[in-house]
Amino acid sequence: MSITPSVQGLEAKLEEHFGFERFRAGQIEAVRAVMEGRDVVVVMPTGSGKSLCYQLPAMESKGSTVVVSPLISLMKDQADGLRENGFTVAEMNSAVPLTQQRESEAAIAAGQVEFIFCTPERLADPAFRRLVLHRPVSLFVVDEAHCISQWGHDFRPDFLTLSGAIADLGRPPVLALTASATPAVIEDIRVRLCIPDAKVVHTGFSRPNITLSVVPVSGENEKRSRLLETLAEVEGTTIIYCATVKSVDELMSFLAEQQVVAEGYHGKMTAKRRAQVQNQFMSGESNCLVATSAFGLGIDKPDIRSVIHYHMPGSLEAYYQEFGRAGRDGKPARCTLLYDPEDRKLQRFFLGGRYPNDGDLVNAYHTLARLADRPSPPTLKEIQAISPLRSGCMKVCLSLLVGRGIVERHQGDCYRLREKGLSRESIAAAGRSYRDKEEQDRENLQRMIDYAESSSCRWQALLTYFDDDALMVGPCLHCDNDPSVPDETARLSMLRKCVEEFAAVRENSSL
Ligand code: ADP
Ligand code: MG
Repeated sequence: MSITPSVQGLEAKLEEHFGFERFRAGQIEAVRAVMEGRDVVVVMPTGSGKSLCYQLPAMESKGSTVVVSPLISLMKDQADGLRENGFTVAEMNSAVPLTQQRESEAAIAAGQVEFIFCTPERLADPAFRRLVLHRPVSLFVVDEAHCISQWGHDFRPDFLTLSGAIADLGRPPVLALTASATPAVIEDIRVRLCIPDAKVVHTGFSRPNITLSVVPVSGENEKRSRLLETLAEVEGTTIIYCATVKSVDELMSFLAEQQVVAEGYHGKMTAKRRAQVQNQFMSGESNCLVATSAFGLGIDKPDIRSVIHYHMPGSLEAYYQEFGRAGRDGKPARCTLLYDPEDRKLQRFFLGGRYPNDGDLVNAYHTLARLADRPSPPTLKEIQAISPLRSGCMKVCLSLLVGRGIVERHQGDCYRLREKGLSRESIAAAGRSYRDKEEQDRENLQRMIDYAESSSCRWQALLTYFDDDALMVGPCLHCDNDPSVPDETARLSMLRKCVEEFAAVRENSSL
C-alpha cells in the first residue's frame, strides 16, 4: 500500500464504498497516511468515524486487514457492516460458535478473508498467527488502542504481546485508533506497538456543546439532594456514573424511593441482564441509567443530554471519556460532577489495590513452583484453582514474570517456571514497571482533584491537560467557572422573573 492518492480520488471512493459526501475532520489525513504505508495513531472522539480510517484503505488493498479489538460487541458491529457491503469477514472470539470459527479458519487458510477481527488473546496464539499468514497482511489495526496503556483491574496482558504478533505477521503498517489519549498514552501506544515514527492524527478535544460544572457537596445527604436537583434540570437521556457496584445499587434504591425511574448497570450483573439494560437504553425505552464505568466503551448513542458523576473518576482522561458520551449529536448537553472532598479517599483506596504487590508476585511464583513437577505445564485455570490470588491479579503477575523471563508461556494459556529457587528480591524486581505506573496513577488522580477544586475555566483545564493545540483564549462560555455563565442562583432568579412576567402578561390579556 504505498501510494499517495489524490483527494478527489479518495472522495470518489468514499462515495462509492460508503455513500458519504465528505470526509470528517481527520479522516482524510489518516486514510492517506495509511495508504502511503505509514504507521498511524488516530485520536478522535467516539462516534467521529475512526473505523473508516482503516476500512477505506483496506477496501483498496489486496491483502487482508487484521483488526484487534478488546470488545466483542464492537467487533460484531463493524464485522456486520462490512459483510453487508459484500466483504469477506472472519470474527474470531469466544462469543462466536465453534462451528462458525472452524469455517472462518478454513476460509482464512484458503486466503479468502479480507477482514480478520480478533481479540488480543486470540492473536497471542502462535498457531492462529500462522493461519493468518495464508494471505499477506496489508494492514494491522488496533481498535480502542488506549487499552494498551490501561493497566487497571480490567487490564488485558495480551495487549502487551501485540508487537510480537505484528512482527510475526510480516510487520505490516499499523493503525492504532483511540478516543482518549494524553501525550503519555500516545507515547505508550507507540512504544508498546513498536511504531516510534507513527504519524499522529488528532482532531482535538474541545466539545463546545458540552457545558461542564462541578457541584461541591458535603456528605451523602447533600449529594443525593443535589443529584435530584440536577436531574430535575435536565431533559432527555442521562447517565449517572458511580464508582462502585455497591453505590449503583444504593443509588437505585434511593431513586426508586424518590419515584425516579432509572435502570442500573454494572459488571456484576449477568451478561444477559446487561445486554437487556443496554438495549433498553439504546432504544430510548429507558432514559436514565445508573452505571459503573463498565458501561460505555464503544457506546454510540447520539442524544445523551446529560452525564452526571456521582463520584469522580480516577483521572481526567477517564472523566473526559465518560462525560464525552453526552451530546454526540452536537446539541447542547450538560455534564456535572458532584464533588465531595471525602471521595478522594475512595479513589485513593482504589489506587492501593490496583496493582500486584511484591507479595502477590512471590505468591504467583510459588504457586507455579508447586506445579513444576507436572509432565505438562499447567493451564491458567489450574494455577488459579490452587492460588489465593484474585484471578485478574494472577494473570497480571504471570504476564510480569513472563516479561522478566522467569516464566514461559505455552500454547493454550499454559505456564511453566524457567528459573527455580529465585530470591524474593529477584521475583519482586518483575514488579518495577508497576511501581512507576502507580506513581503515574497517583498524579492522574491529583489532576482530577485539582480540576474539581479549581475555580478557573474547566475546559481550559482539560485542554491543557490533553496538550491540545487549539487552546482557547478567553472564556469558554460553557463551564460553571466562566464569569459569563450565570450561576445556579442567578439562573433561578432569572427563571422566576420570566414566570412572573408571563403571569402578568397572562393576567392582562385574560387568556
Ligand atoms: P468511532 O469508531 O470513532 O467511534 P465509527 O467509526 O463507529 O466511530 O463511526 C460512527 C458513525 O459515523 C458511523 O455510523 C459511521 O458510518 C459514521 N461516519 C463515519 N464517517 C463518516 C462520514 N465521512 N460522513 C458521514 N458519516 C460518517
Ligand atoms: Mg470505534
